[in-house]
Amino acid sequence: MLTINALCWLCQQPLWFHHHGICRVCADGLLNARETSCPRCGLPAGNRRQCCGRCLLKSPPWESLVYVSAYQPPLSLLVKKLKHQGATGLAQVLARLLLLRWQEERSLQICEKPDLILNVPLHAYRHWRRGYNQTELLAKPLARWLGIEYRRAGLARIRAAVPQQMLHARARRRNLRGAFSCAIDVAGRTVALVDDVVTTGSTADEITHLLLMQRAKAVQAWCICRTL
Ligand SMILES: [Zn+2]
Ligand SMILES: [Zn+2]
Repeated sequence: MLTINALCWLCQQPLWFHHHGICRVCADGLLNARETSCPRCGLPAGNRRQCCGRCLLKSPPWESLVYVSAYQPPLSLLVKKLKHQGATGLAQVLARLLLLRWQEERSLQICEKPDLILNVPLHAYRHWRRGYNQTELLAKPLARWLGIEYRRAGLARIRAAVPQQMLHARARRRNLRGAFSCAIDVAGRTVALVDDVVTTGSTADEITHLLLMQRAKAVQAWCICRTL
């Protein structure tokens, strides 16, 4: 397991605050790299406060999508390091960027403060092979910093499926049907669902449907990157 660097992960300059992992200049660069986007689907749009035309026709089931920036370097490289190269020390660094983004959106009154945080689960076998679930490592510090309840085992992946990357959008949705279960009472609660990357949104879609079926009040999708 790698620990948090004393140098900025991106520009290699010494850090003022070691635990931030990324210097202020690089963090600002990442946060400012995002285009104006729709608060609901996260895709580029003319207005940050109102749903885009696509969402007016057919909106995703979640009420808002909070993400740091598009899935592009250098942020995508950090996400890959966290996910595939065991750089678990990056989880706090990336979670902090998401916290900054969430605080900004909150100050613009784009989203409410949720009262429960859950993370997208991995199937037990994949979890065992990787040794950790990166979404859990992202969710935990966010819950702590925001003082929101976090339930690590709230969601479970009950059915392994073909890796999503190999499928097109419609097949992804089919592939995930019935793949998750929720073991806790979410009735009347606003849930933040934490993932590393939202691509077609099919995973967040499926889990949001499940939570709404179990009478959650609303679901917010939180992720580090959104593919556009
Ligand atoms: Zn830097
Ligand atoms: Zn939209």
